[in-house]
Amino acid sequence: MAKVIVKDLHKSYGDNEVLKGLNLEVQDNEVVCMIGPSGSGKSTFLRCLNDLEVPTQGQVVISGYDLSDKETNINLVRENIGMVFQHFNLFPHLSVLQNITLAPTQLKKESQQEAEKTARDLLATVGLSDKADAMPKSLSGGQKQRVAIARALAMHPKIMLFDEPTSALDPEMVGDVLDVMKKLAADGMTMIVVTHEMGFAKEVADRVVFMADGLIQETGKPEDVFEHPQSPRLQDFLQKVI
Ligand code: ADP
Ligand code: MG
Repeated sequence: MAKVIVKDLHKSYGDNEVLKGLNLEVQDNEVVCMIGPSGSGKSTFLRCLNDLEVPTQGQVVISGYDLSDKETNINLVRENIGMVFQHFNLFPHLSVLQNITLAPTQLKKESQQEAEKTARDLLATVGLSDKADAMPKSLSGGQKQRVAIARALAMHPKIMLFDEPTSALDPEMVGDVLDVMKKLAADGMTMIVVTHEMGFAKEVADRVVFMADGLIQETGKPEDVFEHPQSPRLQDFLQKVI
């Protein structure tokens, strides 16, 4: 069974229908990159996957759990989904290490010792071993985002959602964050990445999904989507961004 199944997903805000019937399946270990113009509903789509938004219509099934089923323990499903946003949302009053250990100790009841060991391993993975005791405000944007990724990974998620994780960063910070994401992908993480980094999508994505006007307009392997776009809408978008 696919890790993520989305069927006929609709979402409206008042009269504004933002998602107009999306269908998507993401398999275990698959990396899907979502591209598309601003306002096309990409963030809304990601938020529907972990119940931060409730769909107006349609179905979302994560690791076999139907989010619309009242019997589903949504907190348990959320523990399986790590989310990284454009703005890092670190807790400013907590050290880097405390940011990473908070959820595992509070929500998963891991011991402090166990959580700290995991946190230090993750900091090594994201190249920030020396920042465990630093406060967020002393970090660069790229370092903050790598801490945010480590914090999400500390919950041992089965799926990682990224919403434009490098869009708020200075250009020289982008590479380090993308490198961490590449490593995650190579390690077999199932990932959905909304991004404007077309180079990353070309290199890392198993599949690229082009969204516009609340619908998936085109989807395929990176080489097909980027080299042979079918729809005028995608051709136009690629001309503007590449
Ligand atoms: P994208 O991430 O592709 O830029 P979004 O999902 O953020 O697109 O937004 C799609 C549309 O939904 C936009 O028109 C936006 O104004 C609207 N929208 C998003 N979130 C809300 C909200 N919480 N309330 C009302 N409208 C929203
Ligand atoms: Mg967005």
